[in-house]
Amino acid sequence: MRTVCVVGSKLFLVLATIVSPALAERVDPIWPTPNTAYFDGKPFTEFIQPTASGEPESGMFGCIRSGGRQFHEGLDLKPVSRDRAGEPKDPVFVVLPGVVRHISRIAGESNYGRYIVVEHTGVSPSVLTLYAHLSAIAPGLKIGDNVERGQTIGTMGRSSTGYAIPRDRAHLHFEMAVWLSRDFQSWYNWKKFGSRNDHGVWNGMNITGFDPLDFYNSLRSRAVDDFAQYFARMKPAVRVRIATKVIPDFIERYPALRQRDFPPPEQFAGWEVLFNDMALPFSWTPLTVTDLMGFKPNEVRAEPVDPAAKLPRCKSLVFKRRGRYEIGNDLEPTLQLLFGLRKAL
Ligand SMILES: [Zn+2]
Repeated sequence: MRTVCVVGSKLFLVLATIVSPALAERVDPIWPTPNTAYFDGKPFTEFIQPTASGEPESGMFGCIRSGGRQFHEGLDLKPVSRDRAGEPKDPVFVVLPGVVRHISRIAGESNYGRYIVVEHTGVSPSVLTLYAHLSAIAPGLKIGDNVERGQTIGTMGRSSTGYAIPRDRAHLHFEMAVWLSRDFQSWYNWKKFGSRNDHGVWNGMNITGFDPLDFYNSLRSRAVDDFAQYFARMKPAVRVRIATKVIPDFIERYPALRQRDFPPPEQFAGWEVLFNDMALPFSWTPLTVTDLMGFKPNEVRAEPVDPAAKLPRCKSLVFKRRGRYEIGNDLEPTLQLLFGLRKAL
């Protein structure tokens, strides 16, 4: 009888999974370090590491540095334990199950220092988490490994290039993000940066972050259950319409962000994409020939969703010139990457 019950409940689980995605579990990320302050409900100053400025918010996500003019694309999390030499000992944990996509072992090859990128293929959209400035990578960890929620992947540190992070400011730089294009290398070559790309598609320029703390807060307050709901609630800052039949690999990888079905092929003519104020393309609507009446092939039009709203000080998304909106420096590369455009916009 007992056996029958177990089989029965298993069958129910299988059926429930197939029939009702609404029964899917809430996403439940752990904290990426042993610091319990966040889940203990303590103030952010208990876990955020400020910059040398000492301003408490300078380790948060967003336009929080240099009086709001400088962007920080993640959270800087401070250590809770140090060795005799004063170096952090905190292990760094993967926050959700995933697949290791990138390990950059040579500190001098990136501003991130030693860093790891994990893709969470079990959630939708399949977001990335990124762990940077590590002092060490967990022994044996390699690209392609499946990692468990809570698995130790490295040790907190202060590795970097360009500028040395002082010991007392050692921290984990933690990001939650999506990645833009499979074709990143061709864009990188076209831009002629004059330096090698050592990171393939996992170069920071191909990764667009959202605020991890806001995401954790949204889960905690039960405003959302998962990433799809979180993205659906993002606030649009800029609307872009583009006349192209290109279907970016971005929207193939993140189908949850597509707002409606494609029209018949002969009717499909382009896209409306909504970006949040940090240039994350979170809402995609395929458009028809009628929707894009008056557009030339590959024409891109961008405008603020609310012309009266303040755009962020640290991101140039759109600006007005001679009465028309033009595409700013922080939106242009994203559009070039998403749509394979190799021209100034
Ligand atoms: Zn940082």
